[in-house]
Amino acid sequence: MLSDEELVRAALAAAAAADPRDVPVGAVVFDASGRELARAANAREALGDPTAHAEVLALRRAAEVHGDGWRLAGATLAVTLEPCTMCAGALVAARVERLVFGAWEPKTGAVGSLWDVVRDRRLNHRPQVRGGVLETECAATLDAFFRSQRP
Ligand SMILES: [Zn+2]
Repeated sequence: MLSDEELVRAALAAAAAADPRDVPVGAVVFDASGRELARAANAREALGDPTAHAEVLALRRAAEVHGDGWRLAGATLAVTLEPCTMCAGALVAARVERLVFGAWEPKTGAVGSLWDVVRDRRLNHRPQVRGGVLETECAATLDAFFRSQRP
């Protein structure tokens, strides 16, 4: 089995493949045995799609290859940044077992920062969560992008 650090490192590699116009967030989905199912980078600008966050793209691709339709039971999603409300909802909808993420996102984070969508006790499926894995490295990737965007 891969360590959580190795999972987030794979997500960092996915982020590095983002279109240069897109905020470099990467996500990777692994099945219960630790096999990689799919990876994606945020592609909102590249696709002109407001829902093309790394997590959503990776979940869609993972469902295509997972073999159990839309249910990603037993899967782990690793992402470089704390998911937003849309992506947190998508994780619950996909029945993802575990979420591991890197940097915290105090402005839009929905897995502990602003909201805690995936661990709401009213939901009957609640993924396990570990945040802050390789946090410094993940945050540095984003800082470098935003610094490069300034005139
Ligand atoms: Zn999102």
